[in-house]
Amino acid sequence: MDVEVLDNFIAGRWVPAHTNEFFEVRNPAVGDVIGKTPLSTAADVDAAVQAATMAFGMWRDTPVNARAQVLYRFKAQLEQHFEELARIVTTEHGKTLDEARGSVRRGIECVEVACGAPSLMQGFGLEDISAGVDCHVVRQPLGVCAAIAPFNFPAMVPMWFLPFAIATGNTFILKPSEQVPLSQRKMVELLSQCDLPHGVVNIVNGGRDVVDAICDHPGIRAVSFVGSTPIAKHVYQRATHAGKRVQALGGAKNFVVVMPDANLDRSMGIIAESFYGCAGERCLAGSMLVPVGDVHTETRDRMVASARSLKVGDGTQPGVTMGPVISAKHREKVLGYIDRGIKDGAKLLVDGRATRVEDRPNGYYVGPTVFDEVSTKMAIGHEEIFGPVASICPVKTLEEAIALMKSHPNANATSIFTQSGKAAREFAKHATASMVGVNIGVAAPMAYFPFGGAKDSFFGDLKAHGRDGIEFYTDKKVTISRWF
Ligand code: NAD
Repeated sequence: MDVEVLDNFIAGRWVPAHTNEFFEVRNPAVGDVIGKTPLSTAADVDAAVQAATMAFGMWRDTPVNARAQVLYRFKAQLEQHFEELARIVTTEHGKTLDEARGSVRRGIECVEVACGAPSLMQGFGLEDISAGVDCHVVRQPLGVCAAIAPFNFPAMVPMWFLPFAIATGNTFILKPSEQVPLSQRKMVELLSQCDLPHGVVNIVNGGRDVVDAICDHPGIRAVSFVGSTPIAKHVYQRATHAGKRVQALGGAKNFVVVMPDANLDRSMGIIAESFYGCAGERCLAGSMLVPVGDVHTETRDRMVASARSLKVGDGTQPGVTMGPVISAKHREKVLGYIDRGIKDGAKLLVDGRATRVEDRPNGYYVGPTVFDEVSTKMAIGHEEIFGPVASICPVKTLEEAIALMKSHPNANATSIFTQSGKAAREFAKHATASMVGVNIGVAAPMAYFPFGGAKDSFFGDLKAHGRDGIEFYTDKKVTISRWF
């Protein structure tokens, strides 16, 4: 069977990329090739920038309410195709259908919030700042903006940016992860049926060459990036050097702290979900489980039981609670970390290395894994694994738990499980991570709040979506007037 080669979307048309190089998109549950992503070139990026530049003048002059109407229609399309989109996400990424549905829902919520642009985008003013002199501030769109997405949330992460960028009057270029371009193609197909003028939204498929061309192109004013820390840093440096506004969200190593007074009956399911949901491929996933004091034994035993209770398999199949990881290469990487954990002296309690799924011999499965007695000096206690591996690192006090987190260069998300308001307050105040959960395992801010971490998990000033999204995509123009 011929495998479909994806096109780019430029100036309202699906067009082939100028390349002979392709990346094979695979369904991680079975290993089959389901599409080919063209590795586009700087010339393709330039074509998209030309189209977006042409469209900008007309789009910024389109009344904000009319721009919001396009997004209302887009929301209706997304709702109508909700199940189809979730299935595409599961097929290209591997997460279970329920997880895929959750991610599409989160994407739609971003569209809903951006529909509020007529209110959110308003400026402010003051009369008589001097005798007969008034001052007004309006928010204006920047121009052509671009977003570069990771593989782990194909239907959600692009929506952190696209709706906010176009609601505020910018035009937009999206570069999906080459590993998961199919749901984004579907979403843009749906958007193109919403009376969106040609050139307002464009897709350029590809890998690092497209990323570097986006960073360098003088016609692009702002870049949003989500991915691993080294590439986030690279994009931040390269694109700011070229004079662009940049927000670059990087990798994570998230600490989940369990206090002796935690309600384990209510918490353990939430904690296990934090580590094993989406096969651990979430930037908000728990990675280090830090029981404080004598709760260690019970937390450990319950974590082991939770890990053993999961059903690994093809995310489209009923009853499956954990899908495969994204690729054979990533599977090897995760298995390599488990090997290193053993070598470094951590105690392996549940071993996911031998997990196989009946009828799916070529899928990229790793079973839930639990290590105890992990230290932050070990690779598994320090590096982002991005797989279903829980590392338990017992400590004696809350201060020690906070100190562990502070010593790590990443600071994306963290959680505490406790019934003490004082402990929770202390923890939230001193946490280095900027998304904090109290008795919440995955502290994901909704679309009307800012999303993003600190330290090596975030480069820039303004975070994703919410009011920060509006700020990021607009310039505050100040007009000072006197009338004679
Ligand atoms: P990645 O950094 O490998 O890729 C992200 C994007 O960068 C992709 O579009 C890819 O094509 C491009 N890219 C890859 N290598 C490049 C290079 N050398 N030069 C230029 N561009 C390059 O990340 P990933 O594996 O797709 O996604 C997983 C990572 O994303 C994890 O580290 C995870 O923590 C992070 N993530 C962070 C957040 C957050 O909110 N902070 C959210 C989701 C994912």
